[in-house]
Amino acid sequence: MHSHTTASDGTFTPIESIARARKNGLSALGITDHDTVAALSSAIEEGKKQGIEIVPGIEISSVHDGKDIHVLGYYIDYSDESFNQQLESLRNVRNQRNQMIVEKLVELGIPITMEEVKSRSTVKKGNIGRPHIAEVLMEKGVVSSIQEAFDQYLGQGKAAYANPPRITPLEAMRMIEEAGGVPVLAHPGLYDDVELVEHLVAEGLKGIEVFHPDHSEADEKFYNDIADRYGLIKTAGSDFHGMRNGEIFHGDLGEKSTTIEIVARLKKLARVQ
Ligand SMILES: [Zn+2]
Ligand SMILES: [Zn+2]
Repeated sequence: MHSHTTASDGTFTPIESIARARKNGLSALGITDHDTVAALSSAIEEGKKQGIEIVPGIEISSVHDGKDIHVLGYYIDYSDESFNQQLESLRNVRNQRNQMIVEKLVELGIPITMEEVKSRSTVKKGNIGRPHIAEVLMEKGVVSSIQEAFDQYLGQGKAAYANPPRITPLEAMRMIEEAGGVPVLAHPGLYDDVELVEHLVAEGLKGIEVFHPDHSEADEKFYNDIADRYGLIKTAGSDFHGMRNGEIFHGDLGEKSTTIEIVARLKKLARVQ
């Protein structure tokens, strides 16, 4: 229910992701690129060919209390013009952020340019994100792994971290609802903010991603209970980003998976089917 393609910062094209989903025994695959729906129409077509049901999705970046909060949206009408315009302005903020991070790295004495970062995207006009910057840092020998790049420079509060003003999680939710989609909070265990979850639930949040590769067993239990308490749909996602230098970044497709009944429930809640 949660994967990234070359349309954002994944390294697999939609076609490659679908083939891997099939190989890993999945019957459906949620594609949720950061702030873009560019992969969806071709993925749905390819899914039909390969016998994999594609769940059209999005992962919108927002900020609350200085923290990055990701809101997943399922079954959005991805051809909706106003939705696409709003996504475009979110992508502009994303580019501004990349620029700020690169400037901070230069200030730290690391010679890196925006052109080098952009060259890491395999598709024209693909969304650039921190994993692309991490790749360049690895290539230059500044760090020895993607994880180290995040731990030392790119993660929240680290040396080159930057976060320009962005929309709030509630605004992200409203965007998804206006496009007919179903809002689900991504990886709540990474924020550790129950008040935020409760606030969004009161505003109409429909589900939370209980199962995620970065969640501990305790996180899963905790958010499973929260979902029960508020009657939320429990989703699971591998957050697959493809492979970088032979390593799977986040989880492999199917590492965290859910049942087809959950997919059906989300679909039922969506305006456009
Ligand atoms: Zn996320
Ligand atoms: Zn993600």
